Formats: sequence, C-alpha cells, structure tokens
Amino acid sequence: MAKIVMKFGGTSVADLARIRGVAALVKREVDRGNQVAVVVSAMSGETNKLVGWVKDLNPLHDAREYDAVVASGEQVTAGLTAIALSAIGVSARSWMGWQVAIHTSGVHGSARILDIDTAEMNAQLATGQVAVVAGFQGVAPGNRISTLGRGGSDTSAVALAAALKADRCDIYTDVDGVYTSDPRIVTRAQRLEKISYEEMLELASLGAKVLQTRSVEMAMVHRVPVRVLSTFDPDKGGTLVCDEEDIVEKNPVTGIAYTRDEAKITLLRVPDKPGVAAAIFGPLAESGVNVDMIVQNVSEDGRRTDLTFTVGRADLDRALDAIRNAAPHIGYKDLVSDNSVAKVSIIGIGMRAHPGIAQTMFKTLAEKGINIQVISTSEIKVSVLISEDYVELAVRALHSVYDLDATPPQAVEA
Ligand code: ASP
Ligand code: MG
Repeated sequence: MAKIVMKFGGTSVADLARIRGVAALVKREVDRGNQVAVVVSAMSGETNKLVGWVKDLNPLHDAREYDAVVASGEQVTAGLTAIALSAIGVSARSWMGWQVAIHTSGVHGSARILDIDTAEMNAQLATGQVAVVAGFQGVAPGNRISTLGRGGSDTSAVALAAALKADRCDIYTDVDGVYTSDPRIVTRAQRLEKISYEEMLELASLGAKVLQTRSVEMAMVHRVPVRVLSTFDPDKGGTLVCDEEDIVEKNPVTGIAYTRDEAKITLLRVPDKPGVAAAIFGPLAESGVNVDMIVQNVSEDGRRTDLTFTVGRADLDRALDAIRNAAPHIGYKDLVSDNSVAKVSIIGIGMRAHPGIAQTMFKTLAEKGINIQVISTSEIKVSVLISEDYVELAVRALHSVYDLDATPPQAVEA
C-alpha cells in the first residue's frame, strides 16, 4: 500500500464530465489499496476570468482581496470532485487551504508555502477516506486567504506530497509527459521516460510550461518523485522526474527549451569604472525587475563600454523607466531596447562530462545564418538570445543535431 498525491490541472477538471473522469482515476488508486490525497486546479479559464474581474474593478486592488477572489475557482472544483467521488462510492471530503492548514508567507498573489499541518489529514487518510485539497491556496499571517502564483497548484501538490511523506506525486495534465522539446514546433520531439530534477528545473524556468518552476524546486529539495501523466491517456507511461542517480543513460543534451518572453536592453557608452553595474542593476532590483542574461564588453579605450542585458518582455517599460530615472548616476550615452528577441536553451546533465556541447550549438546556429546576440551558461545548460524570427528554425536544428529526433514511423510498402 502506498500513499500518493494525485494532482489534476484545469483542463482535467474543465467540466462535470471530466470531473467524473477524474473521480474514476482516483477510484482506481483507492481500489489498489492506496491512500490518496487529490489536489485540484480551478476549471480551465476560471482563474483568468476571476483575475479579469478583479483588475476590471480596480487595477490597484488590495492583494488580499485578489486572493480571496481568485482562490475561489479551486474551492468549486475541490467540492465537486469530492461529490463526484462519493457518487461512485468512494468516501471523500474537500479541504480548503486554511482547513488543512497550508501556512504561507504574506506575499499575496505569489505567497510561498512555509509549513503544512498534516496530523488531521493523515488520520483521515488512514481511515481510507480520500482528501480532496484545493490547490493554489493557503492561509497567510493575519488569517487571510493567500494564493501561490499562477500555476501554483503544482506546487500545492508537491508540497503536500513532501509534508505527507507520500511515496509519489502524480501530476495529471493535458500532455502525456515531458518532451525533448515543444511538440507544437518540433514534430519529432519525444517523450522522456525520466528526467532529473536539475534538468526539469532548467526546462521549467527556461520556458517549458509542463510544471510550475517552484514545484520542481520543491520536489528537488524534498526528493519527491514526481510523475507527469495525461489525464486522457493515463496508462501511457508519462515522465518520471527523479534523482540524477536513477537515470542510467545520460545524453549530453536532454531537451531544447525556448521562450519568446524576452526583451533586450543595451546601454551604450557607459563609464568603465567600479560601481557602474551596481548603479544600473540596483534601481532595476528596486523596481522589481528580474534581470536574466548580462554581457559587458571590454572597452577599447579603457573608459567607456556597452552593456547589454535581458528582462522579461512584460517588464520592459518598467525597466526602461528605472534606467532613465537613474541616468544621472549611471552616465550612459544612449539607451536602446529590442523586444523581438527570444531565448533558446539546450539542457542536459550529461553536458558536465562532454566537452564541445556549446560549440556544436554555436556552429549549428551559424550554419543556419542565425546571429547570437547574448550567451549565458550554467553547468547543465547553454542559452542564447536570438531574433524571435528564427526560434523555430533554431529549435528544430538543435533538436536534430543533438540526436533528439524520434525515428520517423517506417513507411509501409504499398
Ligand atoms: N488555477 C490557478 C491558475 O490558473 C492555479 C493552477 O491552475 O495551477 O493559475
Ligand atoms: Mg497548471
């Protein structure tokens, strides 16, 4: 007998028929003798609708009331799922975040889980009852409802699995696993049987949308085995996110990610002297702008140089504002920006052991005539910034060159 957490995303609970389908999947696990906690998202589209209402009424709303409103989508699906389970003879009850309780920080709208009380829920699970938990929500200091940031029910599920010391956390979604790249642009992308936490973390933060980045961090820290499965084809195998040691075959490159969500800012002719980087990035941090890639050129005359960095596209205006306001302290000649850039990344733990991986990437892009604007690397990834126009070409070319393409189905002879 195992203890498992099953998480269902918005498309999996999009209507009553699908909620009945979810109940049937949960029943299968219960019938196998497992203890089951279920975490649900809101019906797909619901959270967007709720966020829209709040913003419509007042763009400068109180973040605590935003949370009270947007957390309601999960309250509905948790209750409905418990009802659907009871209807097929499975004993179940719903739990809101505050009832569990899932204690979070007070950063409303993107709170962090601090601690989960498990005694009561564990006692309930031991009686064979299913616990259906509203994802995405918790309770903040001051006894106010909080939410975890968009896509946060993945994090609810992994955190609950860690707190309950569950044997695994199954994330049921609308895709059947984690792919070597986005199947919508790479038709020969393949489903990965296994992927390490480290690689999944890079993939998620570099643009793959299967799992919320924070949920992967949480899984990695607490060593929770996570399976990504399709609600609509649950027996297909999915992808196991696990320890590196549990992966036998380590390809140099495991996946290719991309994000169009980038903008590039260049400060021309900034003074090349101590304190300049602090004068630029300090105001950006204060404005809440996350800076990603950075390059500073050597100055030819030892006095002035150019500095380029990237920010999220949605933050571009705020970033430019912050820089302009700090202009007297920085002392640049010109400020230019470009929001038609994209970041393409290759990811793989095998990279540590294989030299020349980055070189293959640069050569492949050169052969396609794609200019690299900025490069950044870590131990297990190389990212390049390129013109948005070439994203698909770049991703496909890299997918082939690192041998990730699935073998095409054999042609049948007429
Ligand atoms: N319903 C929330 C959202 O749409 C949380 C989630 O689905 O994970 O962001
Ligand atoms: Mg989701």
